[in-house]
Amino acid sequence: MFEEQKREIIEDGILLDKYELVSLTCGNLAIRMPTGEILITPSGLAYDKMVEDDIIVCDIDGNIIEGDKKPSSDTPAILYIFKNRPDINGVIHTHQPYATAISLIPGLTEFRVCYTGMANACCGNVPIAPPSPAGSVEMGYDVINYCKTARAVILGNHGVMTIGPTLKDALYAAVYLEETAKGYLAARACCPDGKTNELTDEQIDQMVEVFKYYGQGTPTIPTDLVKKIR
Ligand SMILES: [Zn+2]
Repeated sequence: MFEEQKREIIEDGILLDKYELVSLTCGNLAIRMPTGEILITPSGLAYDKMVEDDIIVCDIDGNIIEGDKKPSSDTPAILYIFKNRPDINGVIHTHQPYATAISLIPGLTEFRVCYTGMANACCGNVPIAPPSPAGSVEMGYDVINYCKTARAVILGNHGVMTIGPTLKDALYAAVYLEETAKGYLAARACCPDGKTNELTDEQIDQMVEVFKYYGQGTPTIPTDLVKKIR
């Protein structure tokens, strides 16, 4: 059942490892099928050792439909997200070190867009949620409470949750958030007062909007949209 999507989950899990967003067996990935079934990675298995049969298929209440492995310990949070966001069909949880490090900066409640890749993939500034226990449904609450338009939330002292209409969207959000966090932390370390050059809200909105025209199957970017904002 759902072999193609199970393969996609495993391949994207291997990419999380490749981009250094997870170490060993941490993190998880989940897909909601158009027919409502949820596919979730098993608890405590390395992505490069996973096979399709290891991916658990369950219903929205967590009742196992297929698979003999124990699902991710974060399953309650994942199911809470799917229940409360019908527009979301892909969820990823990582312990990506640079984005998570942003949550250690005192007083910061959001990570503002400072690179175009983040504007595109995360759809705007990324909120930072206070710490919550791993394996609790709280991580799901954080996504629902904090991700109004953004496709990511940084979980304080823990990791990151990313979401999207597809699993690929959630993957892109995780990868580009990490890339941006690396750049931001490098720049911040070079600034004696910790203050980096920031984009204005208007510039960020423009970046988010422009990327709606990115890729195949979208119209050409309207000229008015790409006027330089000073
Ligand atoms: Zn975690």
